[in-house]
Amino acid sequence: MKALNYKGPFQVKVEEVDRPRLEHPDDIIVKVTTAAICGSDLHMYEGRTAAEPGITFGHENMGVVEELGSGVTLLQKGDRVVMPFNVADGRCRNCEEGRTAFCTGVNPGFAGGAYGYVAMGPYRGGQAQYIRVPYADFNALKLPSGKEHEADFILLADIFPTGWHGVELSGFRPGESIAVFGAGPVGLMAAYSAILRGASRVFVIDRVPERLQAAEKIGCIPVDFTKGDAVDQIIDKNGGMVDRSVDAVGYQAVDKGGSSEQPNVVLENMIRVTRACGGLGIPGLYVPSDPGAPDDASAKGMISLSFGKLFEKGLSLATGQCNVKKYNRYLRDLIISGKAKPSFVVSHEIGLDDAEAAYDKFDRRVDGYTKVIIHP
Ligand code: NAD
Ligand code: ZN
Repeated sequence: MKALNYKGPFQVKVEEVDRPRLEHPDDIIVKVTTAAICGSDLHMYEGRTAAEPGITFGHENMGVVEELGSGVTLLQKGDRVVMPFNVADGRCRNCEEGRTAFCTGVNPGFAGGAYGYVAMGPYRGGQAQYIRVPYADFNALKLPSGKEHEADFILLADIFPTGWHGVELSGFRPGESIAVFGAGPVGLMAAYSAILRGASRVFVIDRVPERLQAAEKIGCIPVDFTKGDAVDQIIDKNGGMVDRSVDAVGYQAVDKGGSSEQPNVVLENMIRVTRACGGLGIPGLYVPSDPGAPDDASAKGMISLSFGKLFEKGLSLATGQCNVKKYNRYLRDLIISGKAKPSFVVSHEIGLDDAEAAYDKFDRRVDGYTKVIIHP
C-alpha cells in the first residue's frame, strides 16, 4: 500500500510499504477514507523533534473497518469509524477517569499514545491506505454509514475535540468572553466551540489574513497582532480584560521569543489579557523535555513566563493533550443533528500523491492552506 513517510526536515514522501496486519485479537484494520494533516505534524516535519526518518505520519484518521481481530465485539466489517488521535487501552486508571490522552497502559513512560507520532508508541500513522487500530472497541467511534459529513467527521479525530478541550481547560462558562491566540485549525475550532457554548465575545488573534477572515465569518472579532500590541487591541475593543484565554499556538510561537531566557509571547499575552481569577487553557503543544531534541531551549520544553503576574492575578492554568474520547461522541451528535459544521475550516481536499506539496504549503501558511484533508 501507499503511505506518506517522513524522510528528514522539510521532506516527506509517498512510498510503497507493507500493509498493516492484525497483531492482537483486539485490533482492527481500517481502510482509510480520509486522513488530515495537523499542525502537530509540523513539529516533526520541520525537524524540531527527535522523530526518525521512516515514520508514517497521520494521527487524524477515519475509514471503513476492513478486518477484525477475534476479540473485537462492538464493531463489524464495513462499519464507518473515526479514531481519536489518542491510542488508549480503556482500562488504566487515567482511562477510567476519562483522561485517555494520559493512558499509562500504552505508554507507561509518561503519558498516552498516538498514531504516527514521535515518542507516542509504535503506532503507524494513517496518512496511508490502511491503518491498524489497537484496542479497537475503545479506539474507534462508529459513524453513520455512507459518505455524508466526511469533512466534518474527520475533525472528530483531533481538532474539533481539541478546540473544545482548550475552552474547557480555560474554565469557560456560558456568557463569558474569551481570547483565542492562534487562528490555525485548532484555534478556529476553539473559537467555534466557544461560540457553540454561548460566549458573549470571542477574540481571535493571528496574522494570517485568510485565517482571521475565517474567524470573523463565524462571528468572532479578529485581531491582527502585526497591527499593534494584541492585548491593547483586545482591551480596547472589549472595554477591559477577557474572562478566559486559550493558547492555540504552542511553543512554535517563537517569532518573538519563547526560550528559557525570553518569555513566550503568547503565554505572556494571555496573562496580561485575562481578568483576575480568570483562566488560561493551553492545548497548544509544548514538547516534553526530550534529550534527543535539537539544541534549543524551547524545543527542549523550556519556557519562561511571568509566574509572579499569574500568581498576583490568581489565574488558573490548565494544559495537556486532548482526551478526545471524552468529547467525540457528543460532538459527533452535534454534527449529525446539524447543530455543528466544523468543516468550514477545511481549505483543501487532496489525494495522497499531492500530500508532499500540501505539507510544504501548510507549513508556510501560504495560498490559504488552513486544514488539509487527504483521501488515500
Ligand atoms: P498551526 O501552526 O496551523 O496554527 C498556529 C497559528 O498560530 C498560526 O496561524 C500562526 O500564524 C499563529 N501564531 C503564531 N505566532 C502567534 C502569536 N504570537 N500570536 C497569535 N498567533 C500566532 O497549528 P494548529 O494545527 O492550529 O495547532 C495549534 C497548536 O495546537 C499546535 O501547537 C499543535 O501542536 C497543538 N495541538 C494540540 C493538541 C492537543 O491535544 N493539545 C491537538 C492538536 C494540536
Ligand atoms: Zn492533530
